[in-house]
Amino acid sequence: KPARRPLMAGNWKMNLNHLEAIALTQKLAFSLTEKQLSEVETVVLPPFTDIRSVQTLVAGDKLLLGYGAQDLSPFDSGAYTGDISGPMLAKLGCAYVAVGHSERRAYHHEDDATVNAKVKAALKHGIAPILCVGEGLEVREAGEHVAYCTAQLDAALKGVKAEQAETVVVAYEPVWAIGTGKTATPDDAQEVIGALRARLAELYSGETAERVRILYGGSVKSKNIAGIMAEPDIDGALVGGASLDVEEFVLICRYKD
Ligand code: PEP
Repeated sequence: KPARRPLMAGNWKMNLNHLEAIALTQKLAFSLTEKQLSEVETVVLPPFTDIRSVQTLVAGDKLLLGYGAQDLSPFDSGAYTGDISGPMLAKLGCAYVAVGHSERRAYHHEDDATVNAKVKAALKHGIAPILCVGEGLEVREAGEHVAYCTAQLDAALKGVKAEQAETVVVAYEPVWAIGTGKTATPDDAQEVIGALRARLAELYSGETAERVRILYGGSVKSKNIAGIMAEPDIDGALVGGASLDVEEFVLICRYKD
């Protein structure tokens, strides 16, 4: 775990116009010291329309906040009205892009093949995918959550080589915990995340598996982050609702204090 730098990523979802995005990003940047930002990588994932504004704010300061997008097209360009491509995000300096978030899988019918194509599109353009996997309540109640999540991981990484796989960030987000106020217990999260790391070791190698960062997501708050981060395989969090509240998100990023 010490070799893996913790990562806190704020998924703003479809919230904040570009002026609100500027205000939140400024507050966040002023609230975290260089030391905190160097110890805990802090990233925001705003809506596409805010990315340029966020880029302008943080440009040129290497230690400052990172940013990325919430989705990308599997294609580089062409007749795909309304979509945004990897080259467009790379040009804006996006370091990360969420792929396969459960809201995209549910509302935009993204299947494993689409998620796999998007992971490859991100990697092709030097953007680290934050690959989201996670089971719904029925799967958990049937006791099949580990098999379900490792199968999602396999499908999403099909054809991805080891050198590239190391740059992927995996996020375990049980669907029943997203935006519901129900957090997985640290032990429940560790069970799946440990299994995902073991699966990475099978797909690639133990070394690769040790390098990949795996986050937990699902109703993360300042009051539950320390317990989650104490688990051996959990390297950070994908934070939805709480990332829109600067004070909360700052406390989450300072979980060590
Ligand atoms: C998310 O959107 O990835 C998420 C985890 O949301 P929340 O923190 O609001 O549950």
